Amino acid sequence: MARHKMLGQLMPVTWPALEGFARALSTFCSVHVAPNRVISSHVGPGNIEITWRARRASLRLDAGSEAGLQNLRDTLGHLLEEVEEGLSARLDWQAEGDLEGRLPPNFRSARVSRVTRLSRGFMRLRLEAEDLGYLAQNGLHLRLLQPTDPDAPVWPRLNRNGRTVWPGASDLHMPVYTIRAIDPAQGWLDVDVFLHGHGRTCAWAQQVRAGARVGLTGPGGGWLPRTPTLWLGGDETALPAVARILHEASPDTQGHAMLTVSDAANILPLDAPPGVQVEWLVQGRDTASRDEVTAHLTRSAAHCLTQAETATIQFAGEKSVAQEIRASLQRITGKLPANVTCAAYWTRTA
Ligand SMILES: Cc1cc2nc3c(=O)[nH]c(=O)nc-3n(C[C@H](O)[C@H](O)[C@H](O)COP(=O)(O)OP(=O)(O)OC[C@H]3O[C@@H](n4cnc5c(N)ncnc54)[C@H](O)[C@@H]3O)c2cc1C
Repeated sequence: MARHKMLGQLMPVTWPALEGFARALSTFCSVHVAPNRVISSHVGPGNIEITWRARRASLRLDAGSEAGLQNLRDTLGHLLEEVEEGLSARLDWQAEGDLEGRLPPNFRSARVSRVTRLSRGFMRLRLEAEDLGYLAQNGLHLRLLQPTDPDAPVWPRLNRNGRTVWPGASDLHMPVYTIRAIDPAQGWLDVDVFLHGHGRTCAWAQQVRAGARVGLTGPGGGWLPRTPTLWLGGDETALPAVARILHEASPDTQGHAMLTVSDAANILPLDAPPGVQVEWLVQGRDTASRDEVTAHLTRSAAHCLTQAETATIQFAGEKSVAQEIRASLQRITGKLPANVTCAAYWTRTA
């Protein structure tokens, strides 16, 4: 696949500020800092290389698509800003012309083309847009952008330094969803919305009709794991990701998927390799309490972690549950291995 490249510079910048950037980046991907003051890293959609000399950093980004380059540029800008407020405003990109006000290259305007009720608690939305190929690589998730006024939508735009500027929450709701299935050649993707009953997306998904307009940006998050053994756990919000990972897994994959649902009606058929055991826990029926569910998930994940040589262990669900499982696995292993992720997909509020 042809690589897309982008060159730029950041000036003035100190070496300690760039070391801070490297530390921030290393919390979610591996980063190499060479003695000659070159920072290089492979981040989801591509590579970032930064060479520092005399208060000036030369930047080189490369990715498989223009959209991937924008993801890298946003990651870079976001982390620079975390290190030092105002630092990202010193970014300057070569041969880009006037960026200010442009739609980001990883944004697509989409239309709902089909709405399907999968179960009492799940709605599938088919979304159609042009040029979706970049959302079929590197990341499983997107932001589903719902404008407050669909007739005059306020979309994200680039600023003069190439960073995406997001509208305020009163103009645009932008939760993260999983790309459950995608066919770029036919120009569609599916998103499965869990109707948890409290959110703006739930209310919108229950009354949305074909033709409604939404925005898409992404992709983000992890990609399809390729290890011979998988342990996947989560609640309803993780179900679309687990379903896609199992559907796309190699037929000889071994492992365990453990899903907790609040209603037995939300148990959906999963297309899993024969060597993967799928277990459903219905809260209130199979387990009495949240603590019991968490303990059960932890035992099962820990068993896989200690038995399998090359396994991917992934949990996703409510933040406090993810934190508890992560802490328990950390106690067992000392330092959490790179093959283990416990992700917060939502946060319980009062
Ligand atoms: C990487 C990633 C992938 C995700 N994929 C999916 C997916 O494919 N399908 C899906 O349905 N969700 C998915 N989620 C979760 C989804 O983003 C959140 O549930 C989000 O809050 C939904 O937005 P909303 O507009 O419905 O609610 P918001 O406006 O964000 O929140 C409103 C209220 O709803 C509550 N709430 C949010 N989620 C839940 C829940 N599950 N149960 C009970 N209360 C809740 C919040 O505490 C808050 O009080 C994913 C999240 C991440 C980070």
